[in-house]
Amino acid sequence: MRIVIEPMGGADSGVMEAVSKAVEAVYKVKAPVGNGLPEPRHAYDSARRQYQASAFLRELRASRKEDGDILLGVADADLYAPGLNFIFGEADIFGRAAVIALARLRQEFYGYAAEPGILAERAVKEALHELGHVWGLDHCPDPNCVMFFSNSILDTDRKRSAYCDKCSETLGL
Ligand SMILES: [Zn+2]
Ligand SMILES: [Zn+2]
Repeated sequence: MRIVIEPMGGADSGVMEAVSKAVEAVYKVKAPVGNGLPEPRHAYDSARRQYQASAFLRELRASRKEDGDILLGVADADLYAPGLNFIFGEADIFGRAAVIALARLRQEFYGYAAEPGILAERAVKEALHELGHVWGLDHCPDPNCVMFFSNSILDTDRKRSAYCDKCSETLGL
């Protein structure tokens, strides 16, 4: 089994490398960075200036090269899902795929100067979070656990880039 980290609509090499390294360290499997996929233009809502996340998941599933691969898309965009203003990421358990959105992980989004290190750390947390969902984990009540639900970027910054003992055990890590 591999976990393929797939840039979608532009790749930030620092982010891709950080996510790949972290996923390999936690899951002890190969996590190569893919060649990249274009963002699904048809899923862009110009009034919201956001893409619908499900289109990214569809594109990811269609790109699967090996049956056993788990796919993690890293979208350089702002994503939403029906009924939600925005999402940091979304998982598709049956499709064994997940996507994370970089737009709101960037310091620039909140009016600060760009900080590549902070962006990479946030991306790692959201990646581990969505991969946890791919394996069927629910949200965790422990605010330090990476499976804690992030309502805002403050929640993401507070939690650690690791699963708590209980979530680790459920994942068999
Ligand atoms: Zn979640
Ligand atoms: Zn937990």
